[in-house]
Amino acid sequence: MRLILLGPPGAGKGTQAQRLVEKHGIPQLSTGDMLRAAVQAGSEVGKRAKAVMDAGELVSDAIVNAIVAERIDQADCAKGFILDGYPRTLVQADAVESMLSQRGIGLDTVIELVVDDRALVGRIVKRAEDAKAAGQPVRKDDNPAVFEERLREYYKKTAPLTGYYYAKGKLRTVDGMANIDAVTAEIEAVLTAAAEAR
Ligand code: ADP
Repeated sequence: MRLILLGPPGAGKGTQAQRLVEKHGIPQLSTGDMLRAAVQAGSEVGKRAKAVMDAGELVSDAIVNAIVAERIDQADCAKGFILDGYPRTLVQADAVESMLSQRGIGLDTVIELVVDDRALVGRIVKRAEDAKAAGQPVRKDDNPAVFEERLREYYKKTAPLTGYYYAKGKLRTVDGMANIDAVTAEIEAVLTAAAEAR
């Protein structure tokens, strides 16, 4: 199963992706996590990405496309994968199309988590507080000022992807304002329906 999770920052993509990993035994490919790992490792990519990420802007398409293209060829992706936080631009969406078609595979479903923007800042602030309380590092971009920029980037560059996938008949929407378990259940229902339709 090859799946894309779409939705603004703080929509719950990462949380739901982890549940999908457990249930379906396919990996979560989070470009945010991969980029943070690169920053941590101090690699060339990390050096180039750091300032952009801290400002809440998007890293260049070329960088993230290359990271994902390399990742999907690893053995654990053979049965499928969940793309979380990628694609985030139309250029990236086109890159996914060609990456998959070059490998003779396709995309099953794109699930959009639909949320109320007003709830998002609160979720991000809470994520930062929870991380701090757990003694974990707080993401530099998890604060209200940078969050505004992340949300702007989302509307400018990522939101158009819903139309892109709708036109391809791939888009399914799920209410991301419901509680975590209810969102998981709705996603599973969407996946079951999509599998039956195939
Ligand atoms: P969010 O909580 O906003 O969904 P992520 O962990 O997915 O955060 O991403 C954090 C940051 O990493 C983004 O704000 C952006 O700078 C960078 N990033 C992640 N994925 C991409 C991508 N597909 N294209 C460009 N930049 C990305």
